[in-house]
Amino acid sequence: MTKTADSVWMECLSFIRDNIKPQAYKTWFEPIKPIKLSGEALTIQVPSKFFYEWLEEHYIKLLRVALVRQLGNGAKLVYDVKMENAYSSNSPQTVKIPSANRNPLKPQKVTVPMESSRELKNPFIIPGLQKVKIESQLNPNYNFVNFVEGDSNRLARSAGMAVANKPGGTSFNPLLVYGGVGLGKTHLAHAIGVEIKDKYPDKTVLYISSEKFTQQFIDSVKSNTRNDFIHFYQMIDVLIIDDVQFLSGKAGTQDVFFHIFNHLHQNGKQVILTSDKAPVDMQDIEQRLLSRFKWGLSAELQLPDYETRISILQNKLYRDGVEMPEEIVEYIAKNIKSNVRELEGVIISMIAQASFNRKEFTIDLAKQIVDKFVKNTKKELSIDYIQKVVSKYFDMDVATLQSKTRKRHIVQARQLAMYFAKRMTKSSLASIGSQIGQRDHATVLHACKTVDNLTETDKQFKKYVDDLTKKLTL
Ligand code: ADP
Ligand code: MG
Repeated sequence: MTKTADSVWMECLSFIRDNIKPQAYKTWFEPIKPIKLSGEALTIQVPSKFFYEWLEEHYIKLLRVALVRQLGNGAKLVYDVKMENAYSSNSPQTVKIPSANRNPLKPQKVTVPMESSRELKNPFIIPGLQKVKIESQLNPNYNFVNFVEGDSNRLARSAGMAVANKPGGTSFNPLLVYGGVGLGKTHLAHAIGVEIKDKYPDKTVLYISSEKFTQQFIDSVKSNTRNDFIHFYQMIDVLIIDDVQFLSGKAGTQDVFFHIFNHLHQNGKQVILTSDKAPVDMQDIEQRLLSRFKWGLSAELQLPDYETRISILQNKLYRDGVEMPEEIVEYIAKNIKSNVRELEGVIISMIAQASFNRKEFTIDLAKQIVDKFVKNTKKELSIDYIQKVVSKYFDMDVATLQSKTRKRHIVQARQLAMYFAKRMTKSSLASIGSQIGQRDHATVLHACKTVDNLTETDKQFKKYVDDLTKKLTL
C-alpha cells in the first residue's frame, strides 16, 4: 500500500495517543493537519508559531519515535505554521529528524532556522522570538503584610499562604476564595500572586478579572486568533482569575476556560479563583467546570467579627499615619459590619472631611459618615430602588417597566431590572419576579441570560449595563 500524508499521520497519531494523556492529545495533536508527504518528509500544519514551539519543547521525542516508525531513520518533519491573519505566503519551516546513526529516543536539541512569518497574538504583550515576558498585572499594595488576619479569613488566608509557598504543589488546586462584596477576595488573590512573584521571580504569574478574560476571548474569536489566546493562557504558571461568577451564562468563555484550566492543572500549574458564591450556589456555570472548581479547596471569606474590624481599621489608620480616638474607631467598627471596603471608606471620608474643614475627628462626624454608608448599602439592596433607577434611565415610570407589554425597549428595561436585582441583591429569582411585575422565576432567569448574552454581543446594550452599574453602585 502506498503511503500518503494522511495514512502516515494517522499511524503516528495512534501511536502518540497511546503515549500521552487524552487532554494533551486533544490540545496538541488533534488540531494538526497532515499536508504533504514527499519521500521521507512529512509536512504538518500547526495553528500557530507558539504551537510549533510547544511541540518542539514537549513532544519532539514522541514525534520523532512515531515518525521513525513510519518513515524509517531518514524521517523528516516539516512544520507549516498556519497564518491566521494570512497576508503573505507562508514558507514551511523544516525540522530534521535525527539521522540514521542516532538513537531516536535520545533527546536531542533541534534548532530550527526560521524567520518568524507572523507574530503570535498575545493579548498582553508582543513576545520576542524566544523569551516571552508577561506582565503579571498584580497590585503590590495588595499583599499579605497588610491583609489583616482574623477568624473570618483565617482558612482562606493560610491556604493562600500555602499556595504561595508551593504554587501547584499543594492539594489546593484550584484555590477558590469566595465571599460577599468587599470582603477581601481581590486583595487576597493579589497577595498570593505578589508573594509568588517574590519567592519565584521566574514563574509567570497572571492576574485577570473574568470580565477582561471574557473580553479578550471575544476579541480573539473576532480576530480569528482563538488558538493563540488559548496557548497564551496555557503558558502561564500561576493563573489568577477574579470574580468567576461573571462567567455565568457565557458558554463560549466557559468552554475555553475549561480547556485552559485542564491544561494548567494537568501540568502542575496553579490556578486561583475568586467568586462571590460557593461553587454549589453558582448558577449557569457548566457542570464540568463546577466540578473542576471543587477539585481543590474552596475557602470562604466571612464577615469580619468585631475584633477583626477593629484590627483592620487600626491597620489602615497606622498605614495612613493617622491617629484617631479609640471610641471613634469602636463606633465605626460597631456600625459597619458587612463590608471591609466600607470600613476603609469611612476612614477615608473621615480623613478627607476632617482635613478639608480643619475639623477634629469627632463622634458626630463619624455618625454622619457612617449613616451615609449604611443608607447607601440599604439603597443598593432594594429591588424597588433598582427599578426606579432603571426606569428613570430609560425615561419611563416604574408602572410601565412592570407592565405586560411586549414592546422591545420596555421588555429590555424590565430584563435589566431583573438582572441587576439578581446581581445586586440576595433575593431569590422567585422573589425578584414577584416584585418586578408579577413574573415567575423562569422569566427572571431568562432575563438574566438574555442580558448576559446581549452584553457580549451588543455594544449599545453593554453601554446600558455599564451606565446602570455605575448609577446603582455610586
Ligand atoms: P472583594 O474583592 O471581596 O470585593 P476587596 O479585596 O476589593 O474585596 O477588598 C475591599 C477592600 O477591603 C480593599 O481595599 C482591601 O484592601 C480591604 N480588605 C479586605 N479584607 C482585608 C483584610 N483582611 N485586611 C486588610 N484589608 C482588607
Ligand atoms: Mg473583588
